[in-house]
Amino acid sequence: MKYTIGTRGSKLALAQAEFVRGRLSQAYPEDKFELQIIKTKGDRIVDKPLHEIGDKGVFVKEIEEKILSGEVQIGVHSMKDMPSRPASGLMFAKAWKREDPRDVLILREKERLEDLPEGAVIGTGSRRREYQIKHLRPDLRVVNIRGNVDTRLRKMEEEKLDGIVLAAAGLHRLSMQDKITQYLEPEEMIPAPAQGILALEIREGEEKLKAMLDALSHEETAAAALGERSFLQEMGASCHLPVGAVLRKEGEEMFCLRAMFGNESGSRQAYASVSGREPEELAREAAREIRSQLAGTVVLVGAGPGDPGLITVKGLQEIREADCIVYDRLAAPELLEEAKAGCEKIYVGKASSNHTMKQGEINRLLVQKSMEYEKTVRLKGGDVYVFGRGGEEGMFLRAHGVPFQVVPGISSCIAGPAYGGIPITHRGKALGFHVVTAHDRNDELADINFQAMADSKETCVFLMGLSKVGEIAGKLKEAGMAGSTQIAVISQATTPEQRTCVSDLDHIAEKVIREGLISPALIVVGEVVSLREELNFLENRPLSGKRYLVPKIGEKPTRLKKLLENQGASVDEVQVGVIEHVKPAFVLQNLKEGD
Ligand code: SAH
Repeated sequence: MKYTIGTRGSKLALAQAEFVRGRLSQAYPEDKFELQIIKTKGDRIVDKPLHEIGDKGVFVKEIEEKILSGEVQIGVHSMKDMPSRPASGLMFAKAWKREDPRDVLILREKERLEDLPEGAVIGTGSRRREYQIKHLRPDLRVVNIRGNVDTRLRKMEEEKLDGIVLAAAGLHRLSMQDKITQYLEPEEMIPAPAQGILALEIREGEEKLKAMLDALSHEETAAAALGERSFLQEMGASCHLPVGAVLRKEGEEMFCLRAMFGNESGSRQAYASVSGREPEELAREAAREIRSQLAGTVVLVGAGPGDPGLITVKGLQEIREADCIVYDRLAAPELLEEAKAGCEKIYVGKASSNHTMKQGEINRLLVQKSMEYEKTVRLKGGDVYVFGRGGEEGMFLRAHGVPFQVVPGISSCIAGPAYGGIPITHRGKALGFHVVTAHDRNDELADINFQAMADSKETCVFLMGLSKVGEIAGKLKEAGMAGSTQIAVISQATTPEQRTCVSDLDHIAEKVIREGLISPALIVVGEVVSLREELNFLENRPLSGKRYLVPKIGEKPTRLKKLLENQGASVDEVQVGVIEHVKPAFVLQNLKEGD
């Protein structure tokens, strides 16, 4: 068989591909292996630092396309340039023995790092190297250089840099060991994940070729590739954040993983070193350890049911201090305006059937943002825990080493009825209450103990039940409740759009449809519903249901807004002017002289 090996055209890439070809030809003398040079986007852009070009993958995409089309059978890349997963339709062979994973210093005049004079200048294109060099020698100045080994060596001479940092692997493969001044041990400088490891990429399903390549693999390197790249994935780091990891054997079947991570500006960095048997478990442990040193706090804040005034004092304070707010559909938009300038606001949706972001993704997002910011607020409608999945978020954060706090909120299950004029308990009418969700995981009517509800003299509140109100009424009657039992549905409770529909179990379904109530809505069943006639304070105010647009000058809310709102109106303000202080055109002296 003849196999074509795809590679970039740089000297180093060619050396790597040539190495692969050499080993394959030796192992499989009956087959033919030849190289094909492919130009990638990363090769075309040479004037920018890597973290500005964007994604990982800039050195691989064009090669992958040729493997997929069948023109090339084996792609050879540096594993550290690869995205965490192979592109769809492709797979990696097991890793071969790695080259030296260490970083090295090439110094122009001196022998060792510690010999460099104060303020000496070091060139590197990698922030991982930059941060760690500065960790070792805070006085050094680091300048950005890019390009291949020859270019960097030339720049060092031309620009009179005191030294540069490179990967040992590249220099070894180019037989340029003699240029190396000093090897930096992983204890001093943690290399990039998978540094010195080649990625051999082939088309999915090419089992025979995979077996040929796997036969030449190296156990320890395969473990290192798995552990180091799992760490990268754990940190969710695209190549713009500095991340390092190196896994080495430490006795019989034991590994040690050293890892580092830094934030965007380099103001915060953390290092971890963990030992154990399972590379992936070590990656998780190191990530947890690093997060526990670096992560900011995530605060789960209950935003209240809709009326922005129903946030707690503490919740509002957290919003004002937040560097990032992750919010969902039920959180009042006005609350976001309280955030400080520059706060990143991320909408994660959740209209019941149309989830913008899955819960798992939200959990991971929170962990990721905690590594970027001092304070991330997770703003959730109503209370954090009342059918809010706040528990899952807290557990995920804890398991990942991220500290979190909870600020409870006023739940719609209490506030909704109250704003609808219905007290959830009342002497002589309801001794307590049930609050249940009407939906189960599969969007079916949840397995609710209707019998217990029917047998008790307690108020029943159903959340997430608007579309099932007929079914709920039916089940309550089956369990023995009278068809004349009072029931209310309150839609968009505590907002200016609040609407309440009152009926009895026999007629509620039909009435809800007739009146066109929309979600979010909650259902209240029980004798307390009848108290609405006396306790409704909201929907029968003079301006209830009316909406006003109020122009204002300056940023402060107007008094008119308050007055209108007190009468039940909903008010939007538009700022149409600013107030500026002007210097008067006269001076005190003139004033004294004038009359
Ligand atoms: N954690 C929230 C509940 C989330 S479950 C809380 O404590 O309020 C979402 C359900 O809450 C909705 O389907 C609806 O039944 C109810 N809900 C939330 N806000 C509401 C509102 N303003 N008016 C009526 N129902 C509301």
